[in-house]
Amino acid sequence: MQQYEHRYCPHCATMLAPIVQMEDGGPKERMRCPACGYAHWNNPTPVLAAIVEVDGRVLLARNAAWPAKMFALITGFMEAGESPEEGIAREVKEETNLDVLSCSIVGAYEFLRMNQVIIAYHVVANGEVRLSPELADYRFYELDQLKCWPAGTGYALADWLRTRGHEPVFFTAEENAERRRGLD
Ligand SMILES: [Zn+2]
Repeated sequence: MQQYEHRYCPHCATMLAPIVQMEDGGPKERMRCPACGYAHWNNPTPVLAAIVEVDGRVLLARNAAWPAKMFALITGFMEAGESPEEGIAREVKEETNLDVLSCSIVGAYEFLRMNQVIIAYHVVANGEVRLSPELADYRFYELDQLKCWPAGTGYALADWLRTRGHEPVFFTAEENAERRRGLD
């Protein structure tokens, strides 16, 4: 996923420039429009993530663009006009065909590299798994088989495992490099 670079003002199409202005926190340089004053805030984008539990096991899925050993949570962007809970139920349905029965928040996590904030939920779901074309594969894991990865959604999984009485086990650095091979 590539971050778009904003170069032109979305209001008047003038080229944005790095301009210093006083803000609540003091003088701040941002990309701003010299013609109409528009500021490109570059706020992080909220991303929803789901720990999907079906019959006591957790579903992890592999994105079609990911290396063969990389399985992770179901994630997606919120749509305008929906609550986070509605968004996560929609994403889980769209990506796995599973129906979300209940939904509780795990926490919010940084993903600085992508300028995103991850809002992670635990959902209990049922139904028959049918993956969207976006996903290539999925696996069900018993809780004590799950291994966490050192990134926002992996920390969410670790925090949730603790609430279920499992001390989370993280991939070793070597295992994680193997898991991510081809991605970096
Ligand atoms: Zn402008």
